[in-house]
Order: sequence, then C-alpha cells, then structure tokens
Amino acid sequence: MNRLFDKKESWTNEERKTRQDESLSGMVKLGYEKSARLKQIFDTNKINPLNIKCREDLEKLPVTSREKLVDMEMQEPPYAGLENSAIPIDRIFTSPGPVYEPHLSEDDHLWARAFFAAGIGPKDIALNAFSYHLVAAGLTFHSGLRKVGATVVPSGTSSSQIQVQLIQDLKVTAYVGTPSFLSSIIVKAGEMGFDFKKDFRLKKACFAAEPLFPDMRRSFEKDYGIDTYQMYGATEVGDVAYECSQKNGWHICEETIVEIVDPATGKNVAPGELGEIVVTRLNDIFFLLRFGTGDLSRIIIDECPCGRTSYRIAGISGRIGDAVKVRGLFIAPSQLKMIQSKFNNLPLQANVSRVGNDDVLKVRVEKISPEIGTPAWENNFKKIFREICTVKIDQMEYLSAGMIKPEEKLIVDQRQW
Ligand SMILES: [Zn+2]
Repeated sequence: MNRLFDKKESWTNEERKTRQDESLSGMVKLGYEKSARLKQIFDTNKINPLNIKCREDLEKLPVTSREKLVDMEMQEPPYAGLENSAIPIDRIFTSPGPVYEPHLSEDDHLWARAFFAAGIGPKDIALNAFSYHLVAAGLTFHSGLRKVGATVVPSGTSSSQIQVQLIQDLKVTAYVGTPSFLSSIIVKAGEMGFDFKKDFRLKKACFAAEPLFPDMRRSFEKDYGIDTYQMYGATEVGDVAYECSQKNGWHICEETIVEIVDPATGKNVAPGELGEIVVTRLNDIFFLLRFGTGDLSRIIIDECPCGRTSYRIAGISGRIGDAVKVRGLFIAPSQLKMIQSKFNNLPLQANVSRVGNDDVLKVRVEKISPEIGTPAWENNFKKIFREICTVKIDQMEYLSAGMIKPEEKLIVDQRQW
C-alpha cells in the first residue's frame, strides 16, 4: 500500500460517515447561531437545524448555485451573511461573478492531500503558475504545496519565457497550473533552444481549472516525461477531489461532502449515474451548504488499489446551466448583463468553441449605432469585457440590428465534452 497523507484517508466508509455526519451537524448548529442568512434559509424552509444530522438530511436543503450566490451576495455584501461573524477573516478572495469568499483557516488541509497523492514533497521545487492576485488559486495552491514541504516558486501568470527561465535557473521539479499554460511553456522552451525532457528536471505536473484531454496527457507523459495529476475544486468550497497514482477517478477530500444530484430535483442520483456535483465544505467560517458547482460527474464506489478508501468522482462530463468555463475561468450570464448595461443595453452573445485543445471565445454584437465596430470602440469593449469577465475575447462578430433574438441564450457553448 502506498503512503497516505493521514489516517483519515484509510477510514472505513462507516467511520468516515460517522465523523463527517458529526462535523456536519456541528457546522449546521454553529451556522444557525452565527449566520443570520443560514438561520433565514432554515426558517423559510421550516427546517429545524437539529434535524440535519447526516448527509442524507442535506436533501432537505436547497442547492445554491454560483448564480444564486452572486444574487445573495449582491443583496448582502460581501458574503451574503453566510460567514461566521465571530471569527476574524484573514483574507478575502474573489471569483468572477463577482463572488466573494472568506479564506478558510491556515490549518485547513486545502490542496495538501492532492499534492501528497501526486508524490510532491520536501525534495520538490514547485513552480506555481496560478494567478496570485484577487483569485484564490495562487495563494491556496501555494499553501498546499508548503504543507507537503515543497519549495514554491510563485511565478503566477508571468510570461512563458520567464517561466522557462525559472524552470532552468531554479531546477524546478514540479509544475502547478493549467495544462494549456504548460503546453505554451513547452513550446516556448523549444523556441528558446531547450530540449524540455533532457535539459530540465520538471517531471511532475498538477493541473486544475481546465480539462486535461487524453491526448494532451499522453503527450506530456510520453513526449516530455512529465507525470501528470488532476485536481478539482472551486473557490467557494476549496479543494474537492484529487487524482492518485492510479489515475482512475478523483478521490473526494476528507473535509468535504460531495453529493451527485439531479439538477432538476436536488435529490441524489444512484451511484454511477451522472448528475451535478454538489459540495458541502465542512468548516466553521463560511456556512455555504450544498454548493452546486454546475459540473457534471458520477461517483465511483469501488475500492481504489492505492489504499485510499474515499469514493471517487469520475472526472467532469460537462456543465449544467448557463455559466461556462473558458480557459478555466467561468463566464456567467450575470457578467454579460453587466457589460450590456455599460453599452446601452447592447444586444450581444458569447460563443465558446474549441479549436484543437484551445477554447475560443467569440463575442457577437449587433451594430445598433455607427461607432460599433470601429477600432476605438472595439478596443474599449474588449478592455471592459476583460475587466468584468477576466477572460480575453478571441474574435468579434458584428451583426445587423435585430439578429440576436431576445429569447436566445447569452452564452452558447459549442464544445463537445
Ligand atoms: Zn486511489
């Protein structure tokens, strides 16, 4: 049996359920006392908090989607009243929406399980190529790497040329970031005259925020000798699941309760069936119960040969609802509405497709006034779009007035999952 991060990873299912149910009822009880919003949710749904005793009881509560959370936070900034007002918050993150989240405590094992399972430890020098400002990714992955003893190079989203330089100069052994960015770094290294496999010591990569396609994975592993691992989480709830050396499904973190539900009813589906991943992070700071990720997956209950006993989720099969991820970042209809309001209620539509392994974001707008489509207008529009949505537009398309019907979706996702 491989080494495990801690004893929890080999708990029997019964033991895990007992401990998690205890934590859950404690969290609900505390949340009902400390968070006015949670009290209101329970009271409105006529639920006695003492009746939420186990994970099965969670079905009595509504699922909160990212869109819903944005609305709730707009009504009651910054955390919709879901925070524990008695605990000082050391860091505030934001993710597109905007959604604000308080940082969970430094004692939380955030991402450490994932890095440990990927074999990262004190001998590693890890390049953390996730953004360090505003979004949670950079800092939370950073502290996870520190918790397994790795030395971190906080390179963030610096240019691929700088990343190559760091990999060479600092003898980096592991990469943490998106797969597409590692691809560009490899291409850049080639342009700079390096042989990635021979010249560098980078032999491990942990990916999040973007899908890792099988042919990409094969190429990283075969062509460049990089052992790859996938990690899955969300800013609202932290780390959710991670891959072990078996690379067959992602183990659910011991600190989270994952339900796979029918998005229409909020009820759990049978093991093996596809449904929405709904996450409850057991903690005493942010009382977000049943966060609906919008991602589709199914649960694997078979035992994993690695020795971890937790159930696994079988990767991500797609997205429900209208919010979509482009290059690892969400675009939500609420953001597009915000852009429309800045441009005189301009009729527009975002269209996401995929060319090779890359997401392509096209924005279609109606030419309802003469300045629309001029270089100055387009530059300004792209700038504001990026400020609000974080993602860069790849293509613009100008249509005559009336071409986008009011009943059409604001975001059209043409990608095949
Ligand atoms: Zn495993």
